[in-house]
Amino acid sequence: MKRDPIKSRTAFRKALAGWFAAHGKDYPWRRTTDPYAVLVSEVMLQQTQIATVLGRGYYSRFMDGFPDVETLAVADDERLLKVWEGLGYYRRARMLRDTARAVLERHGGVFPQDWDGLLALPGIGRYTAGAVRAFAFDLPGAVVDGNVARVLARLMDFRDAVDAAAGKVRLAEWAERLEDPAAPRVHNSALMELGQTHCRPGQPDCAGCPVSGFCLAADPTTLPVKAKRVTVTEVDEHALWCRDRRGRLLVACDDGGRRTGLWRLPVRAAAETADWPVVMERSHAITRYRVRLKVHAVPGTVKPFSGEAWKSMAELAALPMSAPFRKVVEEMSAGNENPV
Ligand code: SF4
Repeated sequence: MKRDPIKSRTAFRKALAGWFAAHGKDYPWRRTTDPYAVLVSEVMLQQTQIATVLGRGYYSRFMDGFPDVETLAVADDERLLKVWEGLGYYRRARMLRDTARAVLERHGGVFPQDWDGLLALPGIGRYTAGAVRAFAFDLPGAVVDGNVARVLARLMDFRDAVDAAAGKVRLAEWAERLEDPAAPRVHNSALMELGQTHCRPGQPDCAGCPVSGFCLAADPTTLPVKAKRVTVTEVDEHALWCRDRRGRLLVACDDGGRRTGLWRLPVRAAAETADWPVVMERSHAITRYRVRLKVHAVPGTVKPFSGEAWKSMAELAALPMSAPFRKVVEEMSAGNENPV
């Protein structure tokens, strides 16, 4: 007989916390109560897997370079983007700096703990405010990320769309009612971890789940239900591989949109590059786009456009560059071009 997790929430919390005490993973942001460090981890993890953030050293590099709001607030674009290079969604890095500046200017460098104070900071929405409250201050935060949404939908056998406005409200209510007011940090961490381990997308591991006795899902593989379908649009981008007589590469600095301040290979319209051979082709995803990057070898040289410049490989290594272009430059320099 299954028990309703809300009605039996004291027992539910105990089972979840007991499992987490024995099996919870040891992440650096779980060893700190510094709201700045928690915020950095939350913003990094918004669009990036834990394995990438930790395994490739992004979190530690960022915290070494900008250990507090004071250092981040005065970071220049080039240094900030260089540390963030490869994580994508570069707007997040600049927004973090805006948050740091606001904490300094409005609160003397001390993070507020109340909802209103946190939500008034730039770049901080309901989710991030809840995460800072719960993980840094051990205050109620009812954090609902994608993992928690899936766990809640299954626990409550919720068959409406979790990404619709009404669905989000229901999940937030359940998260608040289930949250342990005596231990928000542990409770929210445990719920997230349950979603990363046992209650995975697709086929969950219900046999090993510590709260299976409280789970009302009739068929968890069909949950959560989502309303939105993402349509992927394919686009071609034509980049130049062009060196001058000194071996320097022609590159461009983005000055508009989400990649402002990042360096890349120059791009041209398809018609302009039609006569130049494609020496490498790589695909990457950006939000809802699938970009097929075609690299054309330019015979001779071209006149740089505004914002373009010749850079040596050593100079380029020190500049922030978006990950797909960095990869292409490295592979082309190593002579790995694949004629297509
Ligand atoms: S019993 Fe299965 S579906 Fe329910 S919370 Fe646990 S892992 Fe998820």
